[in-house]
Amino acid sequence: FQCFMASLYLSIRDNGVKEVLREFDPPRNIVEAFIGQDLFILAIFWDITYWLLFILILVAIITGIVIDAFGGMREAKEADESDLKANCFVCNLARFPLDQTVGFDHHVRAEHNPRWYLFFLMYLRGKAETQMTGQERYVFDRVWPSLDYRWLPRETTFSVREEDSQEDVIQTVHSQVNNVESKVEQLASAIARIEDHLEKARQ
Ligand SMILES: [Zn+2]
Repeated sequence: FQCFMASLYLSIRDNGVKEVLREFDPPRNIVEAFIGQDLFILAIFWDITYWLLFILILVAIITGIVIDAFGGMREAKEADESDLKANCFVCNLARFPLDQTVGFDHHVRAEHNPRWYLFFLMYLRGKAETQMTGQERYVFDRVWPSLDYRWLPRETTFSVREEDSQEDVIQTVHSQVNNVESKVEQLASAIARIEDHLEKARQ
């Protein structure tokens, strides 16, 4: 242990492990490199292998993993942000149909503001159960035992539904007008037939 601590201390403080080792004595020819007492070739091979494995490859792998992880996190964040910009957080209606009625920004700010839903839930938690209204009770029962969020509006909202009902009204008016038109046509043909009969009777 003493030896380990000493070499650790020395190698960190000075110029690395080489300060601890003996004086460097390079071999003068290739035969000496192989048969010398230091096994010079073996030592160099070991050092290079170590350098390749740990310094180059391992560092590359670790930085690669780190960069990859950060990239993945950023991608997920960007996907979330673009989803928030394209769809309503509460009801998941897309921007386009909303822009045709009330406007997406108005919808997200005034109709389906996620913060208001959060405030509503916080208010429900603080309220005594006996003082809740019917709707509050309904939502409270859904959310707290089972975390059921099916009471949230899904792909629908006040303004869009109003638009739908308006379209329905227009359609019924249209079909009624069509009915009246066909009846008027029937009447006209009946009158024509009566006139024909009258003329034949006169002759
Ligand atoms: Zn919405």
